[in-house]
Amino acid sequence: MNARVLIDGPSELVFDYAIPAGMPVVEGCRVRVPIRQKTSSGTVLAIQEPPKQSEFAMREIHSLIDPEPLITPTLLKVARWIANYYGSSIESVIRSILPEAVRTEDNSAKTRRIATATENIDPAELAKLEKRAAKQYAILFLLINAPDRTLPVADLGESSAPSLKSLAAKGFIKISTEDVRRDPEATETIVPSEPLVLNNQQQEAFNQISASLGTSPTPTPPTPPSPYLLLGVTGSGKTEVYLQSAQAALDLGKTVLVLVPEIALTPQTVRRFKARFSQLDDQVAVLHSNLSQGERFDEWHRIRKGQARIVIGARSAVFAPLPNLGLIIVDEEHETSYKQENPPRYHARDVAVLRAAFEPCTIVLGSATPSLESWQNTLTEKYHLLRLDQRADAHSMPLVRVIDMRLEKQKQKGQVAILSDRLRNALEQRLAKGEQSILFLNRRGFARSLQCHGCGYVCQCPHCAVALTYHRTDERLVCHVCGHQSIVPRKCPECSNPGIALQGYGTQKVEEVLQKILPEARFARIDADAMRRKNALKDILKKFKTKKIDILIGTQMIAKGLHFPNVTLVGILNADLGLHVPDFRAGERTFQLITQVAGRAGRGELEGEVIVQTFTPHSPSIQFARKHDFDGYAEQEMEMRRQFRFPPFAHCAVLTVRSAHERRAEFTLQTLHLRLKENLPPGISLGEVLPSPLIKSHDQFRFQITLRSHQARPLTNHVQAVLKKTTLPEDVTVVFDMDAYNFS
Ligand code: ADP
Ligand code: ZN
Repeated sequence: MNARVLIDGPSELVFDYAIPAGMPVVEGCRVRVPIRQKTSSGTVLAIQEPPKQSEFAMREIHSLIDPEPLITPTLLKVARWIANYYGSSIESVIRSILPEAVRTEDNSAKTRRIATATENIDPAELAKLEKRAAKQYAILFLLINAPDRTLPVADLGESSAPSLKSLAAKGFIKISTEDVRRDPEATETIVPSEPLVLNNQQQEAFNQISASLGTSPTPTPPTPPSPYLLLGVTGSGKTEVYLQSAQAALDLGKTVLVLVPEIALTPQTVRRFKARFSQLDDQVAVLHSNLSQGERFDEWHRIRKGQARIVIGARSAVFAPLPNLGLIIVDEEHETSYKQENPPRYHARDVAVLRAAFEPCTIVLGSATPSLESWQNTLTEKYHLLRLDQRADAHSMPLVRVIDMRLEKQKQKGQVAILSDRLRNALEQRLAKGEQSILFLNRRGFARSLQCHGCGYVCQCPHCAVALTYHRTDERLVCHVCGHQSIVPRKCPECSNPGIALQGYGTQKVEEVLQKILPEARFARIDADAMRRKNALKDILKKFKTKKIDILIGTQMIAKGLHFPNVTLVGILNADLGLHVPDFRAGERTFQLITQVAGRAGRGELEGEVIVQTFTPHSPSIQFARKHDFDGYAEQEMEMRRQFRFPPFAHCAVLTVRSAHERRAEFTLQTLHLRLKENLPPGISLGEVLPSPLIKSHDQFRFQITLRSHQARPLTNHVQAVLKKTTLPEDVTVVFDMDAYNFS
């Protein structure tokens, strides 16, 4: 037998090696192998039959680094499933499971070298250094301004060694070695919390979940319990159910995995877990996307060794190597950020369900607005439904008013109406009473673009088929797809008309308008621009919590689990924007968005009000959201999906071809279309070749085909078989996206 080995390091090479007799190499093991004149470490991806007749003798594995495989057998099984289901290479899946930080030996140092700037450096010396040795000065400057005047040498860049040496020789710095557990959260203070007394529905949910955990750490339940869908209205206390269920799993000696859509956007959920389990001290690991390589390495090994017994993380945390897993929680299971948009294009919720079945362990999917996929699974009894129908604090759901913006537009004589009279009055009232408000802007495709009033020309990105967005702070036009920037033209580039003006509005415009109408109010804006600064989000949320801000303006970013008791008004400025995108989930997303955003209102003693501004007041997603009626919404939406054979009644995949040459992209896809049509397995429907809604992006033209099938596997297999047989032109990229969520 021989072993296929993924070589450590950024170039991600894969080679085959012979296994020396008697060496207990299994899949997932870490090994040392010869590569060219050197040796390198790597991970065994697979054990396989050697090729029948090989032309050269295969080199042998040098040695085994750890006797235990680094990837657990269950995760290896999950990896194979993903490769198979989503049609991606096992290599790419293993790369996701074992982050690069873990595969690179450099990070394994439990000690590290640090550089510390000495105290009392003479400013005159410093000025001299700045003139003579810019690089040394730059490093010293960094150190002087760092906490404790200290930074890890590794963070100072690869080429810093000579400069450091000189600086040390001159006595400006000291180099030393320190022991590390690189604790990403070391500076945070957490107030412990006690379990609450559950209400009846919470208790019922908890009873079922905890019963499914079994009674002892081992043996695990022989048959995996079916997944639970916890459908609880916003504020119904789902988190409390998660917390107590997690406690129950820990009490049995098991471990717990908690998935959230995005760590940075769900700070309160993370904090509540930490607060509840603060007595476990460092047994809670939070997998942020901004962990350094070293921190990631340490956290990963803490988890693997069972030292961290609760892991909280976003999408890729689904691969956290927890031993003896007892419970997986997927919060906000409907969130599309669980779907990875790079290969392997897996959906973390679906992978979590699968992992739970393989472990086996209990899994709870929670949401106020479950995806229709999960909802359908409760109807077919694949999932078990648990409900929380009331807010936990016995407050009523907020009153939702829908404002017809067509009428407002007439009133305001055709001007783009940003605030209806009603919303404006409501804001003024809140301000007078010292209560807080959140204004929410659906950003998708709704930023300010520059359009000529003479000829209608719109400033477009030269690389993508989208209008450029105007950013006031730096007076620039920016492409939200590729980041291209350009200056704001004084006159129309087409017809030289100086009457080129801004169309539409974005968060910056809203802020501007509000400042005029409510000059005494204190505002803050949360959007991707405002958040570029590190900790900006944390700072703003803290200020909002301590009532130093009256009105928070934001995009989708603020729709998730935030909880502010003093917020009594939520305004949704353009609720229907998401409805006009070419995506069969548009209605579902609008429903989810309104419900989630509305859920931010009235979470304390005070009653909440929600004002939804829309141009399509009668659309079902808006009307059902107004009545907080998930069941009603789901029923009518499912009818539509059934009729048109969309998910959850079929799997839907998108095959996209990209190229810098428009004709070549289209032609390649047409060729693939023909081949897909031959021997098309029964039950698969093959769509036509169409330009993607975003026909050009990053200088690449895009065409796509949508495929649907009742069963996923035959679809993936058929497409993969065709792709394997087809040689693609050089500059053409093909992307296959199974269970696609992005149709642009
Ligand atoms: P969800 O996660 O469903 O949106 P939360 O867990 O945020 O809801 O709960 C909303 C509020 O209700 C929180 O302030 C929480 O502390 C409180 N809460 C939850 N369960 C109970 C309970 N059993 N008794 C009293 N308050 C509760
Ligand atoms: Zn662009």
